Amino acid sequence: MSRESSPHNGDTTPAPGGHAPDRRALVTGGAGFIGSHLVDLLLARGDRVTVVDDLSTGRAVNLPADHPRLRVVRSTLSAALQGDRGPGALGGPEGYDEVYHLAAAVGVKRVIDEPILSIDTNVEETSALLRWLARGSRPGTPVLIASSSEVYGKSERVPFREDDDVVYGPTTKGRWAYACTKAIDEYLALAYHQRHAVGAVVARFFNTVGPRQVGDYGMVLPRFVRAALRGEALVVHGDGAQTRCFCDVRDVVSVLPRLLASEPCHGRVFNVGSDRPITIADLARLVVRVLRSGSEVRFVPYDQAYPGAFEDLRRREPDLSRVRAAVGWNAAIPLERTILDLAASMGYDPAAPGMTVRVEPGAGAAAGTVSPASMGGEG
Ligand code: NAD
Repeated sequence: MSRESSPHNGDTTPAPGGHAPDRRALVTGGAGFIGSHLVDLLLARGDRVTVVDDLSTGRAVNLPADHPRLRVVRSTLSAALQGDRGPGALGGPEGYDEVYHLAAAVGVKRVIDEPILSIDTNVEETSALLRWLARGSRPGTPVLIASSSEVYGKSERVPFREDDDVVYGPTTKGRWAYACTKAIDEYLALAYHQRHAVGAVVARFFNTVGPRQVGDYGMVLPRFVRAALRGEALVVHGDGAQTRCFCDVRDVVSVLPRLLASEPCHGRVFNVGSDRPITIADLARLVVRVLRSGSEVRFVPYDQAYPGAFEDLRRREPDLSRVRAAVGWNAAIPLERTILDLAASMGYDPAAPGMTVRVEPGAGAAAGTVSPASMGGEG
């Protein structure tokens, strides 16, 4: 599938706050969903970008094919940092002005399905990266560490503030392992900042959505969009009254360079996302309406969807006052736009009369078609 257009593609306007030309950025997990949008943004502002990605969940097609300022290293991060006899393919940290660490085994479903691999990846790769950065010269290369709203656990105090206590379930429930790995990453980042002056910024992403996202690992919006395009039922787990705040990936990546460029942000944790909640049932209905699909919305109990291991949260909303005060950022792209762009990245063209949508396996779906009749639906 070809790369869809992005608000950042071809945009050469310097990022707000100004930025030196010819900067060198390293993006771990840069072939993934969020990472590839960040790469678009960094290339558009003139950076030279190195991506390291093992393509375990990322896709080469997410990145520009032959960009003169993009280098892609296909490797696990730790192997690219340190070869058998000396530096790995990435060289030393002096070769980079900024590092964005997004490589991870992502999401609760993945950690339930593959607990050992996920825990090892999320903790050991971050640890290896921070060790590598600490060996560099002073002042060192700053690093943005991608964390998650999962870190808040099942705290019921909403909206979530960065300094809130966190509450997890027992270790016998595998779903909490993802939160714990991200919390360990945060502890590591803050400790390296304190002990080794590494300019680490932690960004706790809330639900991030948009083009190139795949539904294989339980991500709700691509699952809904794919089902709506194929005329299949949109399956809501539980009663659907649980709420989430969805933020377009292009809004999310726009704040990351600004946080990293601001030295007072180093050594701090920031919520990043939208603070406009929507119930999952309403999200399903919105997808059906925006894509003019005839799909039904079906409710399935959690214990059928995730036997034995699942515990969901009713509300998850960020308090965004810290990030707003630090860099004056606000999400701007409406959810309807995101749904349409995500559908377009799966092959949907609302202007094509009598179209048949073929959802490619590469878009996180088995191949399937949807007839014009099933797309007619409610207006
Ligand atoms: P993604 O799976 O699309 O991206 C992760 C990328 O990391 C993939 O390209 C994968 O191939 C790569 N990767 C995994 N292990 C690697 C390794 N050992 N070495 C090199 N590359 C490796 O997921 P995403 O949604 O883009 O997530 C990016 C980051 O944001 C992750 O750290 C994730 O935990 C965090 N996050 C995402 C969300 C969200 O809503 N998508 C929410 C909270 C946090």
